[in-house]
Amino acid sequence: MPADRTAARRAALVTRFADLQVHGLIVSHLPNIRYLTGFTGTAGVALVLPEETVLVTDFRYRTQAQEELGAAVRVDIVAADVWERVGQLAASGGGVDRVGYEAQALTVADLERLARGGRGTGRWASVTGAVEALRVSKEPGEVAAIRAAAVLAGEALSATMGCIRPGLSERDVATRLEAELRRRGSEWHPFPTIVASGPRSALPHARTSDRRLERGDWLLLDFGAQMDGYCADLTRTVVVGARADERQRAVYHLVRDAQLVARTSLRAGMSGRDGDALARSLIDARGFGDAFGHSLGHGLGLEVHEAPRLSRANEQPLPLHAVVTVEPGAYFPGWGGVRLEDDVYLGPAGPELLSDGDTELRELV
Ligand code: ZN
Ligand code: ZN
Repeated sequence: MPADRTAARRAALVTRFADLQVHGLIVSHLPNIRYLTGFTGTAGVALVLPEETVLVTDFRYRTQAQEELGAAVRVDIVAADVWERVGQLAASGGGVDRVGYEAQALTVADLERLARGGRGTGRWASVTGAVEALRVSKEPGEVAAIRAAAVLAGEALSATMGCIRPGLSERDVATRLEAELRRRGSEWHPFPTIVASGPRSALPHARTSDRRLERGDWLLLDFGAQMDGYCADLTRTVVVGARADERQRAVYHLVRDAQLVARTSLRAGMSGRDGDALARSLIDARGFGDAFGHSLGHGLGLEVHEAPRLSRANEQPLPLHAVVTVEPGAYFPGWGGVRLEDDVYLGPAGPELLSDGDTELRELV
């Protein structure tokens, strides 16, 4: 963990307890545990009480927890059931009556185990998104980590570009790109790398396949990098082995113009819907509205898809200090598609690009 923010984050969460009508919160969604405690292990549950935060985990994580946990967190290593122990701790606190759990992360089986440790199910309260609401506004250290991941992603792509040529398969390209990401220090691929060529580039969520690149193909690369747990998410679309033809050029410039307008005009305070409309209205106005069927973007942080959404369904204002992707696309089944994605920080002075923003049309000839 770069700096110990556990005390400040804990205080911000405890302040919200009255609104949430709870005296404590059981946190089981792993990115939320990491945010509140610093713990990066994959098995553990955090219990945030008015007096203390306890991370309950097992002996496999004894050393790791000691190394990673912030000063505001106590570790409790158990040999038996973690959930029953959490239930016991939640039931034993003085003045702690109603304890929330993360409804979006807790399974029914976990809730039953929890109840075995405590006093039945009456004292638990379903809470959704309490920690996520804090995570939306990034601290300077978090923005710096996303920027580092985005810079790394751009460099890995540049190193890969020189090797791309007709005859390679999509999987060959993905292998090279993932190696470059790892070599530069990316901790993990936050989502499966998408390398989609030719007509397959029209599939917004294509899986990388064994298809071989042909001269004049579109090649769409959508991939991530992770630094200090924080994700970057980048998409570039290039032409392989030839100059772009007229139609490719027109579609590319449509998407490029829409992306540029959106990433320079986006502001905190604007609704997610209005943010989405920045790119959509331009694409609509040029007669290609049907080709852009997904949302403009999503929040980035410890998760690659988090709040806030830049979408027609989000009427909420975009929070100050949020980090979002801006990724319009235009897809034509049977022919191909273009998507361009950059990462943007919504600061008080306006949008700040975290990735390289290099969307000049690239023809790999
Ligand atoms: Zn992406
Ligand atoms: Zn994305």
